[in-house]
Formats: sequence, C-alpha cells, structure tokens
Amino acid sequence: FSVPTAVNEPIKSYAPGTPERAELAAKVAEMSSQKIDIPMYIGAEEVRTNNLGTCVSPHNHQNVVGEYHQGDKDHVTQAINAALGAREAWADLAWEHRASIFLKAADLLAGPYRAKINAATLIGQSKTAHQAEIDSACELIDFLRFNVQFMTEIYQDQPQSGPGMWNRLEYRPLEGFIFALTPFNFTAIAGNLPTAPAMMGNTIVWKPSHDQIYSANVLMEVFKEAGVPDGVINLVYVDGPDAGDIIFNHKEFAGLHFTGSTGVFQHLWSTIGNNIANYNSYPRIVGETGGKDFILAHKSAKAKELATGIVRGAFEFQGQKCSAASRVYVPSNLWEEVKGYVQADVEDIIKNHMGSPDDFKNFFTAVINEKSFDKCAGYIDRANASDMCEIVAGGGYDKSTGYFVEPTVIVTQDPNYESMVEEIFGPIVTIYVYDAEYFDEAMYLVDNTSTYALTGAIFSQDRYAIELATKRLENAAGNFYINDKPTGAVVGQQPFGGSRASGTNDKAGSALNLLRWVAPRTLKETFV
Ligand code: GLU
Repeated sequence: FSVPTAVNEPIKSYAPGTPERAELAAKVAEMSSQKIDIPMYIGAEEVRTNNLGTCVSPHNHQNVVGEYHQGDKDHVTQAINAALGAREAWADLAWEHRASIFLKAADLLAGPYRAKINAATLIGQSKTAHQAEIDSACELIDFLRFNVQFMTEIYQDQPQSGPGMWNRLEYRPLEGFIFALTPFNFTAIAGNLPTAPAMMGNTIVWKPSHDQIYSANVLMEVFKEAGVPDGVINLVYVDGPDAGDIIFNHKEFAGLHFTGSTGVFQHLWSTIGNNIANYNSYPRIVGETGGKDFILAHKSAKAKELATGIVRGAFEFQGQKCSAASRVYVPSNLWEEVKGYVQADVEDIIKNHMGSPDDFKNFFTAVINEKSFDKCAGYIDRANASDMCEIVAGGGYDKSTGYFVEPTVIVTQDPNYESMVEEIFGPIVTIYVYDAEYFDEAMYLVDNTSTYALTGAIFSQDRYAIELATKRLENAAGNFYINDKPTGAVVGQQPFGGSRASGTNDKAGSALNLLRWVAPRTLKETFV
C-alpha cells in the first residue's frame, strides 16, 4: 500500500481582514508578552538545569521572550543514551506507523499549530508573517509530507528476482544515532534535519542554533503530540565544542545532518575523519553550508524582470538564505535602466515596508543578532571607504532597538572585491557591471571567483545564451534558475542543494537525502 500523494501546502495570504491574520496577530501578542520556560527534551524527560540562557526578538532585542535551560556534556551523553535506548523499538516499528506520525505532525502544523509555529518564528527569528508562513508552516509541512512519500517509494524499490529465488532489499536504519545540527534561518530546515533521518528509523540528538531555540521548542511540542516516541528525537542546548567532544568520540555516532557555515562543517568533517577508526561504521555526513549565489544577466535580458529578480533574490528574508542572490553580473547596456528599478524598489522597502514583523505591512525586518548586524555594518563601512565601490541604494543601519540593516546595493569595479566573493548572509548585494559584448568573460568570473556552488540564475531572452550559460556553469550551482531569482526552492518541485564549498548536495526534501539515512541489507533466498 502507499501513503497519500503529497501536494504542496497552499500559502495563506494574511491580507487585512483574513482570519489567519487575526489569529496570528493574537498569538504574537500573547506570546511576546510572556517569558516562556524552555526545557531540554531527553528521553521521556523535560530537563531543567536552571543555568538559563535567553531568547530575545532580534527586532526588539530588549524583549526577552524565553529562557532556556542550558545543558553540558553530561546532557549530551544522556541524549545519546536515550537515542540508543529508543533505537531498536523505533527501527522495528513498521514503516507505515512512522509515516503516520509524521503525517500527523504535518497536519498539526497545517491546522492547530499553524499560528503558534508562525508566531514563534516571527518573534524569535524576526520573520514577517509571510516569511514565517512560507518557512515554518508550508515548507516544513511539505518536507514532512513529501519525505513520507519518498520514504514509501524507497521501501518499494526492490531488485529483480527469478524462478527459484527471491531477492529483497531491506532498508535498515543506520547502526547508531544521528546528530542533527540545525540553523537559525529556516524553522523548516531545523524541523527537517532531525525528522528526515528519524522517518527512516533512526534516532536523533538534535542541537539547534541558539537563535532558533524559541521555535524549536514549539516544534518539539508538535513532534510529541504527533506521537514521536520518547527518545527518538532528543533536543539539547549545549555549546558546540561540548557537544562535539561527546558526539564525535562516541563509537555509535552514525551520521551528521547539518546546515550551517562552511567553516564549521569543514571542522566537523575533519574531527570525524580523525576519529574514523573508532566508529562502528563510516558515519554519513550530509551538509548544506554556505553560498555566494549569483545572478548573471545577458545583454538580451528584460531589465524590469532582472531588477525584480535582484531585489527579491537578495532581500527577501533579509538576505538570510544560503540561496540569496549576493553577486550580480549586469551587462553595460542594461545597467542604467536596471539601476533605476532597483533603486526605486529599495527606496519603497525602506520607506514603507521595513520595521518590526508584528506590523504586517512590513516585509523586511531585522537580521538575526548583533554579530550578524556588525558583520553587515562592516561590509557597508568598507564599501563606503573603497575607491572601487559605490553604494547606490540603502547603506543605513541601526541597532538601537533591533538589528536593522537596510537592503543595500553595492556596485563595484572589481569582480574580486570582498563582498563579490565572501558570504555575508545579510541584506547586501554587490553588482559588477561588465562590458555587454564580453558575456564569455562574465561566465568565467561567475565560475571562478567564488568557492561556493549553491544557487545561481541566468536572465536572458536569447536561447543560445541560456544554453551556453547552462552548460558552461554546470558546476557553479546545484540549483540553477532560468529567468528567475535563485531563491525559493519548493519541496517536491526544486530539490535543493549545492556542491563545492556549499555542501554535499544531497538535495533536501528528496529521496536522495533519505537514502543517506539507511543501510540497506540485501537478502537472497533460494527455494530449495
Ligand atoms: N531552500 C531555500 C531557498 O531555496 C534556502 C534554504 C537556505 O537558506 O538554506 O531559498
């Protein structure tokens, strides 16, 4: 039998007068006026240490909305033991029962928990209602429903047999526990990284980013209510080095599911490599890391559509996407027109739509924390001081109430300028204007000035140029968009991931990812 066919969860509008808007506004008001107590979840226990850390709203950093109980190395050991203790029963549970639990979690997020998870993402990670809806409701629901469908398809994929014998593939989970290390920028990713391997019968130790603990707590509530058994997903808040010390020295460490920075991922990979002889099996290492995602325009591109692609690709979600457009190559013949459109759009955002996310007219809010704010401010200051750069839109920043950085457009004459090649992870895009007759050279720059290869886009009305760029840039992006911004991959439609310094390209929300979490056993039976 097979599971219900997955369809993408429709995005609710949150327009004035809609019931979802009223419900979300009420939930935001209720939650942001409290200080929620956030325990760790280890096995059947809610663990409180009274060593408290705080969760604040990035758009209003004096507002403490939660206090979480910080753990230490012992808690990591306890979480591993809980995961290992729950493993056998979970692995033996028939897959359709695991499927049911995650389908129920999706339904809870789509219905009774929708306002709560969106409010938590809005308050704790400063996402607007629309951004929260796309992330913590729709994308996470899609991950759960589509992964359940892919799981079914994997289990049903069986080898050929012949008369007198029967070959079977048994998709066993990995032998050990999985460590899910999750980012702040998408609640959906934080939800997907533990659940995808759990679905395949694995048990998990989950350590979220400090900046996402507030909504992770709501996710855990949903998982529990959906029926995820105790010990299958264990949520701990521990300093990275403490967690790493215990996890990567454990014999039964079986896999890492990671989204975060390239530097951290490389460090973890080498730690695992140094310990490789001490594990039961070779651990699976799956990671999505940084990006320096490009938009390349050909001289035949439509200026208005290109400008919209730049503004939306660079500034939606405050640019805090691995996929955000952050380097753009514009041909000289289009530049003046494109510049005009981009400046007008950015001005409109700053004047009319920038501010606190609980004001629903805003679609641009604060960056996640002070470190990120300071990093963005540094790039802006250095661009202002550089002879090679001009800031043509935005450029302001202010952290008095919240961590607000204006959407900022730098134009540089140097294709190797720091903000053209380094990941910033904030609302800053850098543009290089190339001689429109030198498209070949522009493609060369796209392919050779960055170490990343996550997403990219070509804008062109010339089919030959589209074909050329698609071929020439085949290794420059794992997700390549033709006449569209390089962001906004939808589960089930554009499997997401990249290679080079951007990750292992195991495509989140696809069977390719789920296959990393199984250790198949081949059985051959001969009928004698
Ligand atoms: N999947 C998201 C997109 O396509 C980005 C995820 C990320 O930032 O890691 O825009």
